[in-house]
Amino acid sequence: MSDSETSQENRGQLAYAALREAIMENALKPGTKLPEGDLGAHFGVSRTLIRAALARLASEGLVDVGKTKSATVAQPSREEAEEAFAVRRALEREVARLVAARWSPALEKTLRAHIEQERSASEAGQHKLSVRLGAEFHILLAEMTGNALLRRYVFEILGRTTLIIAVHGQAHPQADSLAEHLELIEALKKGDRALAEGIVDRHIIAVEDRALSRAEEEPAALADILTRFAPAPAPASR
Ligand SMILES: [Zn+2]
Repeated sequence: MSDSETSQENRGQLAYAALREAIMENALKPGTKLPEGDLGAHFGVSRTLIRAALARLASEGLVDVGKTKSATVAQPSREEAEEAFAVRRALEREVARLVAARWSPALEKTLRAHIEQERSASEAGQHKLSVRLGAEFHILLAEMTGNALLRRYVFEILGRTTLIIAVHGQAHPQADSLAEHLELIEALKKGDRALAEGIVDRHIIAVEDRALSRAEEEPAALADILTRFAPAPAPASR
């Protein structure tokens, strides 16, 4: 392969990663058109490579590729959202079981360091970063199983559920997720597979509830909408 082909491939990879990130952060809203020509010009790659990036995103459930129309950012339905979370729970229970079986102080150190990053992002009010780090915690755990295929499936399902949370969910404090992640580490440390599985199961159900609970409610109240842009002042301490 020539150097220029290699750099084209790299830029194709970059286009895929940039689009994935933008979709997961809801910067590109569901339904947004993704014309191959515009994307090719922006990333400086051929339409063929853009098509490949879009096909990959489509296989991950992040993009809808029509036969004649241009691709669009996927709009997961409520039903698809529930299916994705059910698969995520099944995969992550297995992850917890496997990681509990091969637990070591090195793994604990890595996970705790990651949680510290989550905590500081959350405390600094960096919501997008803390959400991303929260998702990466799960990918890190999947890596620790040593099963590359399981890691790949978890990576993919995390993309889907993160899009769903961005579409259907509300910004909420990451404090609950953080506490649940710490609880899981304690169970893994004990080598208690059943307990670890149970904690993961409850955690993903809680994440799903936080994401979907408001999906079919009345439109949000003005104050709730405004809170997303500027939090209300904390109540005076008693
Ligand atoms: Zn989590």
